[in-house]
Amino acid sequence: MKLNINNTFSEELPSDPVLENSRRQVRNACFSYVTPKKTSNPEMLHVSEEMMMELGFSKEDVQSEEFLQIMTGNKVIEHTKPYAMHYGGHQFGNWAGQLGDGRAINLAEVVNDSNRWAIQLKGAGETPYSRTADGLAVLRSSIREYLCSEAMYHLGVPTTRALSLAVTGDQVLRDMLYDGNAAYEKGAIVCRVAPSFIRFGNFEILAAHGDHKNLKLLADYTIKHFYPEIKDRGKQSYVALLKEVSKRSLKMVIDWQRVGFVHGVMNTDNMSILGLTIDYGPYGWLEDYDLGWTPNTTDRQFKRYRYGTQPEIVLWNLYQLANALYPLIEEIDPIENVLNEYQDAFKQEYIDMMYTKIGIFASEEKDHLFIHELEELLQAVETDMTIFFRNLANYRKSNHIQGIEIIYNAFYSLKDLKDDIVSRWNAWFLKYDNRLKEEVLGDEQRKQKMNTINPKYVLRNYMAQLAIYDADKGDYSLIDELYQMLKKPYDEQPEYDKWFVKRPDWARNKVGCSMLSCSS
Ligand code: AMP
Ligand code: MG
Repeated sequence: MKLNINNTFSEELPSDPVLENSRRQVRNACFSYVTPKKTSNPEMLHVSEEMMMELGFSKEDVQSEEFLQIMTGNKVIEHTKPYAMHYGGHQFGNWAGQLGDGRAINLAEVVNDSNRWAIQLKGAGETPYSRTADGLAVLRSSIREYLCSEAMYHLGVPTTRALSLAVTGDQVLRDMLYDGNAAYEKGAIVCRVAPSFIRFGNFEILAAHGDHKNLKLLADYTIKHFYPEIKDRGKQSYVALLKEVSKRSLKMVIDWQRVGFVHGVMNTDNMSILGLTIDYGPYGWLEDYDLGWTPNTTDRQFKRYRYGTQPEIVLWNLYQLANALYPLIEEIDPIENVLNEYQDAFKQEYIDMMYTKIGIFASEEKDHLFIHELEELLQAVETDMTIFFRNLANYRKSNHIQGIEIIYNAFYSLKDLKDDIVSRWNAWFLKYDNRLKEEVLGDEQRKQKMNTINPKYVLRNYMAQLAIYDADKGDYSLIDELYQMLKKPYDEQPEYDKWFVKRPDWARNKVGCSMLSCSS
């Protein structure tokens, strides 16, 4: 295996001087060296060919015994020293202190085709940051992370990537619903990949400790490697960093809203400093369009991280990042400007995005009200988000009475379509039709363009769950089927039409489909 190893994080930033792998509070360091745990009987289930090539692996490499052993913790890449990152975070609105990579271990960074990639194993055993947990991951959550990160990439959403998915041969004890019913599950490891896994929380923990020296080092490191366009060297460079992170995070969350992705745990330790979707845990896909929906049972009471509030939560998280960077900036006004800009931009970009979803591209008149009416209607009866927007592309101008027929398939029950709902939809389609008249694109062109914005295939919650049921029985074929399909989410792919359907009834209130927990 010839990887172009080029470590920067562990070379340029201070390490924890303690080398033993004991749980502890770490000070004055950005990471701790740690060795992955050995696994007893590892088996590779899937490798992303795209990421294989991105990283500079050959086909022979990924089929080799060495690759399997490296990606499951039994062997360390030559001349490298794996490590776990030190970070903290705000969880569900409260400062949680030190968190850190409790079960993620960075193997190395490679540079290939001028792109830098950090390679990380998730579920590879204890680290100093494991707190009370075991550092392991189970197969169900690993399948979900593996499939979803690749699916998100192909949807055009900024995200961390995944290289491989393997089972370890070891059993892992989990109390999936925190109800006292712990059971053994198959252990697994995902190898995930991103230019960097630095999170807002890496800055927060240093600021919380008053460790301004390392805070500055980390901010300078981040700018140097990931925001090289920031040339300014003084305090303003940290304002510029905050601004760029804010812009990227906004792009990310607007994309989430566009495709109906609900992250589920938007704690600041799960916010990438590169604006990537990171840490696929109890996430879910909106099926029934509901601004108040969250898949995370841990968040059932307050629904802090529900679909409709995600953009505001990003702003809340940016405030925490801003607080952490404040010691480097020492001025409130420029920070406030950045945060205010986010607020204005998100309102505008959300509306703009929603107009593109309904195929209105040229019209100047992009008022909130029309979108708001649509959101209300989509929530009036159970309506499938993905099918609605995909089918809306079939609308033909000057046919507003037929509008509702085009979207019939999106309704979970036609019995719900009482007369008043039908007349509200008819009224909406009449307004829609009037707006479309101002558009330059013809029906067919509009459809084509809308179909590049509204995916046909997303990783519906029940689909991942079916792959998990099969995998638990030792059949891994559905993982590959979904993986292949989700590479082209905007294409028609008639061979996969059976996946362009509403959530089946059995999945409505099912663990793993509409109910997920952090216990993974
Ligand atoms: P999460 O909610 O998955 O983002 O995790 C929050 C924190 O808990 C992070 O510091 C994780 O590394 C840690 N963590 C989650 N699961 C485990 C586990 N099984 N073992 C050790 N640490 C964990
Ligand atoms: Mg996390």
